[in-house]
Amino acid sequence: MKKSIKKITALTKRKGFVYPSSLIYGGFSSTYDFGPRGVALKNNLKNEWWKEMTRCQDDVVGLDSSIIMNPKIWQASGHLSKGFADKLSECKDCHKRFKDLEEDGKSTEKCPDCGGDLMEPRDFNLMMKTFVGPVEDDATTAYLRAETCQGIFVNFKNVMDSMRVDLPFGIAQIGKSFRNEITPGNFIFRMREFEQMEMQWFCNKKEADEFFEFWLKQRLEWYEKMGIDMEKIRKNEIGEDERAHYARRQVDIEYKFPFGWGEIEGIHNRGDWDLSNHSKHSDEDLMVDGDYPWVIETSIGVERSFLAFLVDSYEELESGRSNDAESKEVVLKLDPKLSPTKVAVFPLLKNKKKLTKKAKLIFEEIKKEFDAVYDETGSIGKRYRRQDEVGTPLCVTVDFDSLEDDSVTVRERDSMEQIRVSEKELKKVVRRFMEGEEFGKLGKKA
Ligand code: ATP
Repeated sequence: MKKSIKKITALTKRKGFVYPSSLIYGGFSSTYDFGPRGVALKNNLKNEWWKEMTRCQDDVVGLDSSIIMNPKIWQASGHLSKGFADKLSECKDCHKRFKDLEEDGKSTEKCPDCGGDLMEPRDFNLMMKTFVGPVEDDATTAYLRAETCQGIFVNFKNVMDSMRVDLPFGIAQIGKSFRNEITPGNFIFRMREFEQMEMQWFCNKKEADEFFEFWLKQRLEWYEKMGIDMEKIRKNEIGEDERAHYARRQVDIEYKFPFGWGEIEGIHNRGDWDLSNHSKHSDEDLMVDGDYPWVIETSIGVERSFLAFLVDSYEELESGRSNDAESKEVVLKLDPKLSPTKVAVFPLLKNKKKLTKKAKLIFEEIKKEFDAVYDETGSIGKRYRRQDEVGTPLCVTVDFDSLEDDSVTVRERDSMEQIRVSEKELKKVVRRFMEGEEFGKLGKKA
């Protein structure tokens, strides 16, 4: 089975994960909206990261800073100068801009679109501009943040003064970032509006190398915990000439997408670049005991990792699980922690009142604790298929025996194993499954 972004894009649209944005107006280049299942998966992903990076870490606190901040911040951070720009060649005729225009190692001189002459490559800044206030002049020019971490640096002192934290400690934040990417693409891999989950770890200079290793290891372990195929994850140590302008060391965590290896997270040693520059530009003393703390950053994209988890979990069954030869059966083997729905509840037959009544009661109860759906249409096989395709790990069926013994059949997505569980125990069984217990051990084989 060959995985392709095309197949995954089609599935995500058909099943309410991701829609191209503004479709009724013909779309809008490289922007996407997340449908009901997409927002659920995204929220699960963000919650898992937040839990791991704040609740499970004694020394990391959370923050939610503004998207539009004082423009001086971007001067200090280096984003408005050369450091955050793409070299582009502009066509003298159609004024389209192009990146990396090379043929046989030599720069091309003609526009690939209209054949017009190209100007010499120039730097184009990636910051998105906007205007704040009633008058559109320079005095009110502001920027949408290009990375969430600057909000963390400018609140460093606030957090230290209000939270009784001491070095080393971290600040974590999840939020939108904006970059005027010239060549967005590969579905949701590269967009102009995206979300980042970032943690900035403040420490003494002499501990920075050690903490870099610590966080790199910790982040790699997280992917494993989230059920990703670690054969498809690699570390990429970035050389000095390719590093971001603030980075003294940079290791990218990459995933093997159908289009090749792509960065999903960056681990950076930012040194004292940010705090010292903000001190200079703001006149605020951001030193601790006479020195600027050094910063180790972990920065992961929500949509890029969302795509990695989707690609990773996508499977097509060659032989099929049902007798429907028309189309390939798709199973999303998502980690249950990420699945939009955890439990689907079915009555065996739709037109048997006693069955539907019991199934609905079970659904009402289970949904108090877990994301659940109720489905009574189509054969049981079809209903299993529908849930497999969207990654629901457990399906519960109420059959005629259930009316006698108050038990139900629970079926697990990946193994298709079925166990019989008493109605009273059902919630506990789901809970234990979600905590990672082996499914087969949670009830009698059905
Ligand atoms: P790239 O080299 O691919 O442009 P980057 O090195 O500029 O990425 P960082 O600045 O390190 O990326 O940002 C951290 C993370 O934010 C990336 O690993 C990625 O997951 C995410 N990210 C960055 N740019 C985008 C984008 N345009 N669309 C979606 N996610 C992005």
